[in-house]
Amino acid sequence: MPFFAPVFQPLHAHSVCVFYPGSTESAGNGARDTRYIMADKREIILSGIRPTGRLHYGNYFGAIKNFVDLQSQDNTCYYFIADYHALTTITEREDFYQQTIEMLRTYVACGLDPVRSVIYRQSDLPCTAELTLLLGMITNIGFLARGTTYKDKMGKLEEAPGGVEGNPLSYGLLGYPVLMAADILIVRANKVPVGDDQRQHLEMAIDIAQRFNSRFGETLTVPEGIARNALRLPGLDGAAKMGKSEHNTLDLLDDAATVLKKIKSVPTTTDPEPLGTDSNHPDDVIARMPNSVGALYRLLNLLAPEDVYLDFVGKYRRGEKFYGTLKTTLAEYVSAFNAPIIEKYHAPGNSRETVEEFLRENARKVTPVALDTVEAVRAAMGIGHSLYRA
Ligand code: ATP
Ligand code: MG
Repeated sequence: MPFFAPVFQPLHAHSVCVFYPGSTESAGNGARDTRYIMADKREIILSGIRPTGRLHYGNYFGAIKNFVDLQSQDNTCYYFIADYHALTTITEREDFYQQTIEMLRTYVACGLDPVRSVIYRQSDLPCTAELTLLLGMITNIGFLARGTTYKDKMGKLEEAPGGVEGNPLSYGLLGYPVLMAADILIVRANKVPVGDDQRQHLEMAIDIAQRFNSRFGETLTVPEGIARNALRLPGLDGAAKMGKSEHNTLDLLDDAATVLKKIKSVPTTTDPEPLGTDSNHPDDVIARMPNSVGALYRLLNLLAPEDVYLDFVGKYRRGEKFYGTLKTTLAEYVSAFNAPIIEKYHAPGNSRETVEEFLRENARKVTPVALDTVEAVRAAMGIGHSLYRA
């Protein structure tokens, strides 16, 4: 048996073949000599989501919908619930595990398929922590300190009374890009869907992988980003962004009464002003409206048939009194969109126990792939393979 025993772990009907750095053996087909995991007819896609609260329409149209669409193509999709990452911000420890499970149930209800995709919890793959440590040993602090998330938080502290004394920022926050790099590299993902908020972190992961390969030999698959829908949904309060932390969200699990109440309370006191454009494209139209009204039109454009959207753009142009009807019409489309999600969320096949079972099963699928990567990295760095691994 070679030092790095290839493990062939079929993940799906179209299997993923695992190859080792430095090994000329192929696992299964015997024909190729390659240094990476190769995906037969598939891209290896990975994306993670922090379990920090209930999912809203921004999350759906900005991220989840894209994850669901990618599954229907000929790809191997790894989606993980980033519970390690959430530890830098989570304060409600008691509910944390519960929240992770509830979030997964919502993902499944939205169409993420635990059979077609490998959906797992980050902490069920503890070898990610080992890879983070190994990569962290060779990652420059100056490089990490240039991360915008870290810089923003640090900047706010410097401005705060008392400065950075008693700095509440954690080592985990500075090291966030290393953990993110480990998440991607451990499954040898070659495609990573990213929104604007994660682009810099992905570039850092690419940099970490390239530096590793040039120092220790070609070992890690260098990933690429896949541009995601750049849509940024405004909050119901008129803030530039709908966000959990902003408390201005329309949630996927909101029932009809809650939807109507939330939409009715969207501020629409200003009379429509001339749009100043003939274009009906939502980007053009919404940019010329007050933010909160823009949020209603964006949602209408996403959910209603085009003629309904155009009819309300016409009303706006003509300055008619229509906000009441716009709100009740939109509330109906939102409730109709939510209804099947709520139903699937509560379906017996999506119980807490079922979700835990598929998490266990998927962690079993991804673990051999991840351990292969960690062993390859250990070998490349000269540590040698683990003499014992439970
Ligand atoms: P938090 O306030 O805790 O940061 P959030 O509401 O911003 O939460 P995240 O968990 O940060 O949500 O984001 C999950 C995914 O949803 C990310 O990929 C992010 O780009 C996307 N997303 C979040 N809010 C929006 C939004 N308003 N419009 C479009 N995409 C969004
Ligand atoms: Mg966010």
